[in-house]
Amino acid sequence: MLHLLDSVRNIHAIGRNYVAHALELGNAVPKEPVIFAKSPATLVTGDSVRLPAGMGDLHHELELVLRLGQNIPVGDFSGLDCISHIGLGIDFTARSRQKALKEKGLPWHLAKNFRDGCYVTGLTHEFSSHQNFRFSLSVNGEIRQDGDSSLMLFPFAALLAHINQSIPLMKGDLIYTGTPEGVGPVEDGDMLRLCCAGLSIEQDLTVHIQ
Ligand code: ZN
Repeated sequence: MLHLLDSVRNIHAIGRNYVAHALELGNAVPKEPVIFAKSPATLVTGDSVRLPAGMGDLHHELELVLRLGQNIPVGDFSGLDCISHIGLGIDFTARSRQKALKEKGLPWHLAKNFRDGCYVTGLTHEFSSHQNFRFSLSVNGEIRQDGDSSLMLFPFAALLAHINQSIPLMKGDLIYTGTPEGVGPVEDGDMLRLCCAGLSIEQDLTVHIQ
């Protein structure tokens, strides 16, 4: 697992890829994918995260995460065979900071990039890229997010083709494919569980904020 993350050069993340989530934050449903970057320096795996205190509210965004197994020059994306692994991740987001930056028309970068802000479970090679995935997040035993990849506005192929229109895709890159509705704050000491039966993932995660 760790060797898969050593080779991460880029992390592309997608905003507003599920209608119900776009609406819960008061955003319009986008006509093309919304792309932003998470820094590989903020990537973490395992059974705990240590998020920074003093950032205001920190929200969980549960997402399906793709890992690319090959380099794809700009414009050469041709199909889902380039996905080597899939897992689950949490795109932690400093929500009030993001709102303030959006209102000023500034990039959200500092609302999306901070220590341990980009969590990923173990990644599996055992999948069919054409299957649908049900996935869920519970916090302290209560289901908060329950997603289904069939509800994505832009499915995997559309996301990869869109990114690859302008950015070369690199072997090892991770793609965070957007979060379903139900995002909300995490607190110090919260116990999270990320599940996806189709990927045989059941991962417990303790949140520390300090
Ligand atoms: Zn997200």
